[in-house]
Amino acid sequence: MFKKILIANRGEIACRVISTLKKMGITSVAVYSDADRHARHVTLADEAYYIGASRPDESYLKADDLLALAKKKNIDAIHSGYGFLSENSHFARACLEAKITFIGPSADCIEKMGAKDAAKALMEAANVPVVPGYHGENQAPEHLQKQAEKVGFPLLIKAVSGGGGKGMRVVNKAAEFAKLLDSVKREAMNAFADDRVLLERYISKPRHIEFQIFGDCHENYVHLHERECSLQRRHQKIIEETPSPFLDEKTRQAMGIAAVNAARAIRYSGAGTIEFIVGEDRSFYFMEMNTRLQVEHPVTEMVSGQDMVEWQIRVAAGQALPLKQEQIPRTGHSFEARLYAENPNNQFLPSTGKLQHLRFPTSDKNLRIETGVEQGDSISVFYDPMIAKLVVWGEDRETARERLLNALGETGIFGVENNIAFLETLATHPDFIENKIDTQYIDKKLNRLLADSEVELPDNVLLAATVKRLLEGKQLVKEMAATSVDGNSPWFDTTGWRPNGQSQRSLFFSYEETDEIEVKVTENDEHFIFHLDDDLDVIAESLANDAIRLQINGSWERFIVLRHETSLLISWKNRWYALTEMNPFEPDLSIMSANSNIIAPMPGKLLKILVNNADTVSEGQPLAIIEAMKMEHTLNAPFDGEIDQVFYSEDDFVEADATLITFKEQA
Ligand code: ADP
Ligand code: ADP
Ligand code: MG
Repeated sequence: MFKKILIANRGEIACRVISTLKKMGITSVAVYSDADRHARHVTLADEAYYIGASRPDESYLKADDLLALAKKKNIDAIHSGYGFLSENSHFARACLEAKITFIGPSADCIEKMGAKDAAKALMEAANVPVVPGYHGENQAPEHLQKQAEKVGFPLLIKAVSGGGGKGMRVVNKAAEFAKLLDSVKREAMNAFADDRVLLERYISKPRHIEFQIFGDCHENYVHLHERECSLQRRHQKIIEETPSPFLDEKTRQAMGIAAVNAARAIRYSGAGTIEFIVGEDRSFYFMEMNTRLQVEHPVTEMVSGQDMVEWQIRVAAGQALPLKQEQIPRTGHSFEARLYAENPNNQFLPSTGKLQHLRFPTSDKNLRIETGVEQGDSISVFYDPMIAKLVVWGEDRETARERLLNALGETGIFGVENNIAFLETLATHPDFIENKIDTQYIDKKLNRLLADSEVELPDNVLLAATVKRLLEGKQLVKEMAATSVDGNSPWFDTTGWRPNGQSQRSLFFSYEETDEIEVKVTENDEHFIFHLDDDLDVIAESLANDAIRLQINGSWERFIVLRHETSLLISWKNRWYALTEMNPFEPDLSIMSANSNIIAPMPGKLLKILVNNADTVSEGQPLAIIEAMKMEHTLNAPFDGEIDQVFYSEDDFVEADATLITFKEQA
């Protein structure tokens, strides 16, 4: 067995691999970039080495440097996680030549499955059903147009080297084909340095169901059941589960056999995923194979009780698979929800910034929290904006779903936009509960889902916000009294006594579009008398971990209340509410400045500046295009006006909130 393994990755997957290495008694070696100097994976590893600047191509993607480091530090094997070098056959081959084990399939297998067209041809030959379409070598646009008409519309143009949902376009009619082909080719050339495409029938209302497979060097091949990954935004998964609530036993069996056949056909060794697209009628087709561990592998671990990383390491060390097909357990149900720093209200645009507050529930055998960050860390432009994965297990789907909601309701974040509320909306939605979803569900229903995320503010939440602020006030007074020479002065009394005989106070909050929600309250020892339509007597008790309990109308209710400056996040009954505390005497200046300037919504690179000083522009006109985390975002004119000044040039890197363009004063 290996003694020392280098993890050529970062974030939650690096932490995940380290936990298995610790269990197996193998020394873990981490690498880190500038941005990751103090990252969680660095602190967890037994050894850690600096490998370069923050940009991936200057650090985590530097294959030669990683190998040189591995040789110098006597590394036996390299685990590359997912993303970065994990599906890079040149790297796998270079490892072999350097006599360091690449924990993964052979370079040959990676190459065979790397291109979607070749993979489809291979699967066809192995009698695995593939989506009907064209995946030939002739890439002449006229030829592709003819093939497209043969396949029929709607169809999908896919970059053969594509991944991560990029390099894909739906074509609805023949007349659009040429233009969309052009745009896929351009995107594919930029992202994957390969502009070859394939054409596929566009399956309507499809499901994405994949099988976890494993092979070893002794010609054993098994699958560890399926994962349903149909809940996607921008062709990227956000909630995954197993078993799939959609499959019947017959289809499940047939797909499992097809998946194992696919693995056997290329003598695959290590962990892999066979992705299928499944039609409404349960017809299934091979879509692609991922020759690595998958982000959503923990749901498979939860129902099988097996450690996929341990299996990978054992197989790479030459051992046989620990279980035969019929010995692979499966009990209960598991969900994974991916928590992203992104804004669902703005096209899921990634958000960056410091995690001012990061609160997770305590994990246990039914709840796993996979994360690479801690409170105080930053989500940067350089890497994937995933904050954490919440993985739950339950005896059945409903129990698991309730645990997922619980976990979401106990997870609070300040500092970056995030998708917690959106995940809560999805996980409580009747369509999700009744399993009436497909891969296009979120895109199609987005407006309604976003509207559903805006829930009315329950009075109880307002009570909790108020009590929290008053308790904090009391705490402050106590601290002041402790350091004062005259600690017994009635000015430091926190029981509600005031010289003028009354201590009713008003607090003001805003929630969504509603400003100045006034709460009138009188404190009296542990009692808070709220002056609503009638007076309401509430008793409060602070708990650990930012939780409080309130006795309201005779029943105890538990809340989590997080505060950062004037923002409050309150969780009640597994739902988060964001309030802002207002000081009614302070005018709001932010609106004025926001209206007359164009501000960078996120840190990134300016791809295009489309206007010059003194240009006249009309409302909605594109002014600049900014790129962050490989996504483009267009900044439009908020009104008709004249540009005063453009502050940056194309290719400049800008910070979030930097003023990019100002307007002339309007007459
Ligand atoms: P796919 O989208 O290909 O079906 P997954 O959903 O499992 O596969 O996502 C894998 C993707 O995760 C990678 O292609 C990459 O974009 C992204 N990724 C890379 N590194 C990391 C990381 N350390 N943590 C989270 N995600 C990562
Ligand atoms: P990637 O390499 O980016 O993961 P995939 O080929 O796995 O690309 O496709 C990503 C997603 O796009 C799938 O999960 C599915 O939602 C959708 N998709 C792919 N092929 C088809 C198809 N033929 N018809 C309909 N949807 C598809
Ligand atoms: Mg895929």
